[in-house]
Amino acid sequence: MTSPQQVRVRTPERYQLDSSMDDFLSAHSNISSVSDVSSNWAGFSPGTRENPIPVENLENSDRASSINTFFDDDDEIPTPTMRNETGKQLSWDTLDLCFEALQLFAKEHGFAVKKSTLKKFRGMKDMQYINCCRGGQKNTTKVLTPERKRQSRSLIGDEPCPFRACIKRQRQTNRWILEIVKGCHNHVAADQATVYAVHRRNARRSDSRIVQQLNGDYEARILPKQSWHSIRRTHPDVGITLKDVQNERLKYATLLDGGLPAIQAMIRDMGDAYIHQEVVDEHGHLVHFLYCYSAALQLLRRYPYTIGIDCTYKTNRHGLYLCQVIGMTALNTSFVVGHAFLSVEDIEAFSIVLRWLRDIYVNIGIYPPLCLSIDRAGGLLAALKTIWPNIPHVLYI
Ligand SMILES: [Zn+2]
Repeated sequence: MTSPQQVRVRTPERYQLDSSMDDFLSAHSNISSVSDVSSNWAGFSPGTRENPIPVENLENSDRASSINTFFDDDDEIPTPTMRNETGKQLSWDTLDLCFEALQLFAKEHGFAVKKSTLKKFRGMKDMQYINCCRGGQKNTTKVLTPERKRQSRSLIGDEPCPFRACIKRQRQTNRWILEIVKGCHNHVAADQATVYAVHRRNARRSDSRIVQQLNGDYEARILPKQSWHSIRRTHPDVGITLKDVQNERLKYATLLDGGLPAIQAMIRDMGDAYIHQEVVDEHGHLVHFLYCYSAALQLLRRYPYTIGIDCTYKTNRHGLYLCQVIGMTALNTSFVVGHAFLSVEDIEAFSIVLRWLRDIYVNIGIYPPLCLSIDRAGGLLAALKTIWPNIPHVLYI
C-alpha cells in the first residue's frame, strides 16, 4: 500500500499549559478593564449590580501568611521574613506546606513563585530552590532563541528576576525552613495576583465547583468561550482567562483518554464492538481511518445486494472527509455498513475503501453486491473500475 502524495492529517491542537506573556497580558487586561467601568458604577464590585460580591481586603485577610513583611511601599515587593512576631524562626512540617506559605505571601504581594532545583540527601528531599515566576531560565529547548521559528512568549523578560529562595530540611528536627538567597525583584508588584496563572489555578483548585462546571461544560459540548463567560459571571474573583478554560478542558480530555492521544483512545474504546483499519504513511502518520460496527455486518449478511457510497462533508476541525457506506434492507430502509475518515478524496483513498469493503464481503462469506450507488466525486468511479470492475453502478446527482 503506497502512501498518498499529499497528507493533510494534522495533529490535534495542543493548548499551551505553561504561563506565557500573552496569558499574563490577557489576564491583566481582564482586570484592568474594571477601571474602564462607567462612573455610574461607583463602588464597583464583582458580581451583578443586584447581587454585588464584596471584594476581600487582602491586607486584612485572615488567610494571611505567617510570613511577615517589613516593607510598606505599595509598588515595591517586600522580602519575606522567616520569623514570627516574637522573633522565633518559622518552620513547617513538609516542604509543600512551606512552599504554599511562600506562595500565599507572594499572592498577597503581587508576585508568584515556582520551584526550581531540588537537591536530595541519601535519597530524601533535602533542599528546594525557589524562583520568582518572572525569573529562572528562559528557554528550556536546545534551540537558541534567535534561531527559533517562533519567538519565546515567556513571562520571563530579557533580565530574569533575581529573586531566589531556598526551602531547607533541618536534619535534627526534620522540619522545613525558608531561607532567602536574594530577596529583591526587578519588577513591581502586580495590581492583582490573578495575572499570574499559578494563583488563578490555585483559586480554581480551592473551589471544586469551578472545575466541576468546566468539566461539565466540556462533556455537554459547550464552547470554551461560552464556558468562560459563564465562569466569569459566577466566579468573578478567580480571574479566569479563556486560555485557563482551554487548559482545563485539555487536562480533562487527557484524563478521560487515560493519557493516550485521541485516536489511540478512540481505538481502545472501540474494543471488539467495531472492526477498524488504520492507514498510515511512511512516517507513521495516520492518513485514513476506516471502521464498521460488528453488528452491522450481520445486517449486511442478510442484505448484501446493494450499497451506496458517498463522501459527505468536512466533519471536524481536522478537515477529514467522512465517507459513508450505506446498505439497504428489504423494507427500503437504510443502515450504516461502515465509515471511513479520509484525509483526501482521490482514487487511492477510494481504492482503499473499496478494497476494505471487498475484503469484508469475502471474510463474512457473502457474494459481492449486485449494484452500487455512487457519484463521480474524487475518483470514486475510477477506483470502482479497478477494484470491482464487473459490478454495475448507478450514478446519482
Ligand atoms: Zn520577581
